[in-house]
This record gives sequence, C-alpha cells and structure tokens, in this order.
Amino acid sequence: MKIEEEIKGAESIGIGGHIRPDGDCVGACMALYLYIRKVFPTKKVEVFLEQPSEVFRCIKDMDKIRTDVTADEGCEGSFDVFIALDTVKERIGVAEALFDKAKKTINIDHHISNPGCGTVNYVDAQASSTSELVFRILKEENLDEEIAKAIYIGMAHDTGVFRYSNTSPETLQIAAKLIAFGFDFPEVIEKTFYEKTYVQNLLLGRALLESILIMDGKCIVSGIEKRTLDFYHADAKDLEGIVSQLNMTKGAECTIFMYQTGVLEYKVSLRSKGKVDVSKIAVYFGGGGHVRAAGCTMNGTFYDVVNNLSLHIEEQLKQAGVIE
Ligand code: AMP
Ligand code: MN
Ligand code: MN
Repeated sequence: MKIEEEIKGAESIGIGGHIRPDGDCVGACMALYLYIRKVFPTKKVEVFLEQPSEVFRCIKDMDKIRTDVTADEGCEGSFDVFIALDTVKERIGVAEALFDKAKKTINIDHHISNPGCGTVNYVDAQASSTSELVFRILKEENLDEEIAKAIYIGMAHDTGVFRYSNTSPETLQIAAKLIAFGFDFPEVIEKTFYEKTYVQNLLLGRALLESILIMDGKCIVSGIEKRTLDFYHADAKDLEGIVSQLNMTKGAECTIFMYQTGVLEYKVSLRSKGKVDVSKIAVYFGGGGHVRAAGCTMNGTFYDVVNNLSLHIEEQLKQAGVIE
C-alpha cells in the first residue's frame, strides 16, 4: 500500500486512532497527518484523538488534534477518506461516526485481534507497531525531521524501546533511517517513555507493593482503585508503564493489571512473556491486542475479575506444561 495511491482524488481526509491513545497511536496518527499536510497542502486533513498525554507535546502540531466532532462533520460534511490507525473502528471513540460516514475507509493496524474494518485494510500482526506500517506506506524522500520523530516515538513505545520480541531487523533498520533525520532521540525517549512525575512513581510503587502472586508465582496481579486515583488527583494516563514493570517479575509468566473505571468496572491490561496468549483471553472478554500485550474492560469486583481471568490463564499454563 502507498498512501499516494489510496488518497488520490480525495479532497478531505480524516484520521483517527483508539481511545486512551498510546505512543504508537499518537505517533502513527501524527506522522500520517503531518505527511499528508506536507505532501498534499491543498487537501483538507483532520486528526481526531482523545486528549493524549502531555508528554507527546514534543511532536509537531499536537495542538491541531481534534478531540471533539462538531455538527458540520456530523451532518453533511463527511470525509472522502477516513483512516483508522492502530485500532478497530469500535475503539475510535467520538470520531467513529465519521469513519462510518466516509466514502472510503482505510484500516492500518498490527493487532492480531483485528480482522480489518475498512474498505481497504493493511493489517500486519508481525509488525512492531502501526507506526512501522505508516513508515512503509510513505515515500521516504518526502519525510522530514518532524514526521520521522513521530514515527520513531510510535515504534519505540510499542517495542518498549526496541527490546520486546516484536522488534524485527526491519524495525531497527527503519529506526536507523529515522534517527538520521537528526532529532534528539535520547531526549525524546527519556521525556515520553521513561520520565515519570512524582505522583506517577508513587502509583507505580503502590501497584508493586500491593501486588499479589497467584498460580504458584506464575501470574502477578495488581490494581488501582478509583479512590486511589482520586486521592492523588491522577487519571489513567498516570498508570502507563506499570503493567510492564510488573511483568518484569522473575518467574511470572503473565501479568494482570487493572484500574477501576466505574462501579464494578475495570480496565484490564494483560501482559505475557510468550507462553500465554493474552490476546485470546482479551478477545474472549470483548477486548483485543497482541499475544504478549492485550486489554479489555471487565465488570465485577477486583476479585471477580481476577477469578474470571485466572481460569483462562490457568488453562493455557497447563497446556504449555508450566503448571500441573
Ligand atoms: P493496554 O494494556 O491497554 O495498554 O493494551 C495492550 C494492547 O492491547 C494494546 O496494543 C492495545 O491497543 C490493545 N488493547 C487494549 N484494550 C483493547 C480493547 N478493548 N480492544 C482491542 N485492543 C485492546
Ligand atoms: Mn495502541
Ligand atoms: Mn500499536
């Protein structure tokens, strides 16, 4: 797929990513947005996202992101092309209606749980990130430092800074081309990935301190209640990275981390070291993701959620011969 071909003849293009956008989602959306604006200055292009974390301010034109959908787009002003990145259409959020009304829809994603929801689909579950897929559909000669930075941030975030097993030789070859554009990549990674506010570190500390081991230490579980978030004046964006830290526990094959989103409702993040396919489990509970990283929303108390998930995890661990 080449974007030039796909948007040929289109005068208006909408771009959207998933709710609670992560680095890959923000990077992929902004890179494509910046590219289309640069290469096709006469086309109307808009990017729709839920408000991303402040750390992504270093990406150019973050203030152009539309977090709302106004009446003119909602009524007659539909887009010629709407591109959904890093998601299925059900997770786009407010702009889902724009996807539905667009004359042509394109879906670019790397989630194994995504069957492809556009009229044109580019879904590659082997790819490190949607940002890597965005790189592939752009002409290298049209890239610039700002576009390269956005793609790099996306790839770095979804690969845990190029250390997860989704990092391929191609991922690193692309990363090498990107840093050659000259942006300050150590600074960008430090500020968007590693640096935490004091409160974020306190929440990480609590999640670690209050974690429990189940299944003979093969699964680590932790959660943050709504009242804890409120106490620290924090929100879901302050919990980024906690699940990965838990999953670094020696001996644990997988991790359940959840935070409360409502009365008897939790957003669940699952991580695995490879023996458990957490995407399968998340899909079963109405979510999705990758083999080693997936998520869903579940109802019940903290312990209801743990019990429901652990049945599936236990079954897979038994099949893999990890437990008896
Ligand atoms: P998270 O733990 O929420 O950061 O998500 C881990 C991975 O699973 C990411 O690639 C998410 O995009 C994906 N994911 C999380 N929740 C869902 C969901 N409800 N539906 C589909 N994919 C999800
Ligand atoms: Mn994502
Ligand atoms: Mn992604």
